[in-house]
Amino acid sequence: MKILMIYPKCPDTFWSFKHIIKLFNKKAYLPPLGLMTVSALLPEEFEKKLVDMNTTDLQDKDILWADFVFISGMIVQKESSLEVIKRCKNLRIKTIAGGPLFTSLHEQFEEVDHFVLNEGEITIPMLLEDLKKGELKRIYTSELKPDIKTTPAPHLNLINAQDYYLMPVQFSRGCPFDCDFCDIVNLNGRIPRLKDPEQIIKELEAIHNIDWRGSIFFVDDNFLGNKNKTKELLRAIIEWRNRIGFKPLFITEISINASDDEELLELMKQAGFFNVFVGIETPSTESLKECNKVQNQNRDLIDSIRKFYKYGMEVSGGFILGFDSDDETIFERQFEFIQKAGVSKAMIELLQALPGTKLYKRLDGKEECSKHLPA
Ligand code: SF4
Repeated sequence: MKILMIYPKCPDTFWSFKHIIKLFNKKAYLPPLGLMTVSALLPEEFEKKLVDMNTTDLQDKDILWADFVFISGMIVQKESSLEVIKRCKNLRIKTIAGGPLFTSLHEQFEEVDHFVLNEGEITIPMLLEDLKKGELKRIYTSELKPDIKTTPAPHLNLINAQDYYLMPVQFSRGCPFDCDFCDIVNLNGRIPRLKDPEQIIKELEAIHNIDWRGSIFFVDDNFLGNKNKTKELLRAIIEWRNRIGFKPLFITEISINASDDEELLELMKQAGFFNVFVGIETPSTESLKECNKVQNQNRDLIDSIRKFYKYGMEVSGGFILGFDSDDETIFERQFEFIQKAGVSKAMIELLQALPGTKLYKRLDGKEECSKHLPA
């Protein structure tokens, strides 16, 4: 069985860093960790290739080589995904689609032959079972959340690491918070599931063994999903860095309440964390309430941001414009806040209602109706 995995093109967004990474002689910011993990979930005897369209042109001969094309992406990759699916259809090669884009919007992809939705650790074995019998269904899905302690390490051999600015590692999935615009809770749940520190050290060692000496991104939904376990992991990383005699540096995404725990910040510093992305969203108290960003409320956000700097971590921040309570002063207030806090890279976006989120349901009228109907 020959499987071609395709990661569609990312448009210009904050996270693609398309223009700046050229200065570092890199083609893309991060390789597709999802597909590299899917590859590890497939039988060893399958032949696998991966084309990341952000680093490599997709050729018809690549598609024609395959028995099946696996395609995965995020919502921002929708346009490129549709083009890839059409190309496969024209070349009569069957497609199997999964990942956040298809889990959220699979009804919009009529030309896909089969879907493996939600988390692959559960749904890929279901697909493989039917593949053996030669009876594939159109949709494989499950609400069950897998224990990621059994998730195999991603297949690094599928990529040319030097094309990328960072290498990814995932320690946890899920986030205990419930911000109303965020689809993480929907996709990965509110109870963070974690890998063991030993599992992560093995993944870091594998990255080190392909001669990667750049920085590494913990692509967790929230690196602070489970504080005690995060500290356990950080201690293991400190020990590992000392042992290998090389000091790789780390980036991650973390909620602002991490700044309340100086022991955690000290461990992050010692483990080599130099940059954190924090969802700050807005200096407006009303808007923070509106979107249920509880962890950002009742605190001095500027003091919290400066705490990260005190421990040697640069703060990149996510900001949102367009909450119901925002008025025309919000642009100036956001600008002043970013300047005062010293957020070095600010991602400023318009509020988006992603499918499945509380915000989407509220705007759709469904949640409001059920909430306000008389008993
Ligand atoms: S803290 Fe971040 S990941 Fe968690 S629900 Fe809020 S926006 Fe989503």
